[in-house]
Amino acid sequence: MKNLIALQDCDIRMRDLQIKKEDGPKKLQRLKEQLAAVEDQLEEEANRLETYTHDRRQAEQEIEEIENRLKKAEIKLSNIKSNKEYEAALKEIDDLKREKLVWEDKAIDILEKVEALEAKYATNREKGEETKQQFELDHNEILKRLKALNRELNKIKKKRMQFSQAVDPDLLKRYDSLRARKGGIGISAVIKGVCQTCHLGIPPQEFNELLRGDKLMACPNCTRIIYWGDDERYQNNVSE
Ligand SMILES: [Zn+2]
Repeated sequence: MKNLIALQDCDIRMRDLQIKKEDGPKKLQRLKEQLAAVEDQLEEEANRLETYTHDRRQAEQEIEEIENRLKKAEIKLSNIKSNKEYEAALKEIDDLKREKLVWEDKAIDILEKVEALEAKYATNREKGEETKQQFELDHNEILKRLKALNRELNKIKKKRMQFSQAVDPDLLKRYDSLRARKGGIGISAVIKGVCQTCHLGIPPQEFNELLRGDKLMACPNCTRIIYWGDDERYQNNVSE
């Protein structure tokens, strides 16, 4: 019975370790998603910056071209003889100047957008670096923890092997089958007449039988193998 209790203790600890082992990868997955989101945003901003740069270059070229046309129009103006031609040339210069203003406004607008976006991009890049560093740190930490958990798990597995070899094969079979069907718990302590797993009372007569400890008994409610939890022989954490 003592070996079986130790076995149950090992099984509970193994289950807890298994659950803890799953925490790390979950956390890593969350961090990975955060990192991907930051990187997506950075890429989108970089693309937008490129578009702005292209637009700005285009505006500058337009302005340059208009200036060339303006120069030509002014040369033409100085060589004109008739009033009608003179007025047409003046109008052309006027139109070109207006067109130039429009493009200059556009260029300023783009420049302002670029400046704002560049500032945002720099902040986000910093944030991206921080997230990346945090990811590396957490990644290493989680791997270290996983290794430690695996070491502990292997230690308990070895102990479990020893305890299971010391338990009567039929009893072991019954325990393993109960454990598989009943949420990982195949054996339960009964303290003050109450099953500590299903929390229901054992009839007094059966409890007295249990105290005598001369036969294998099961909880009438949850059917798990039961033992008297106040028995001094089972007091310590036996699997330690
Ligand atoms: Zn029970």
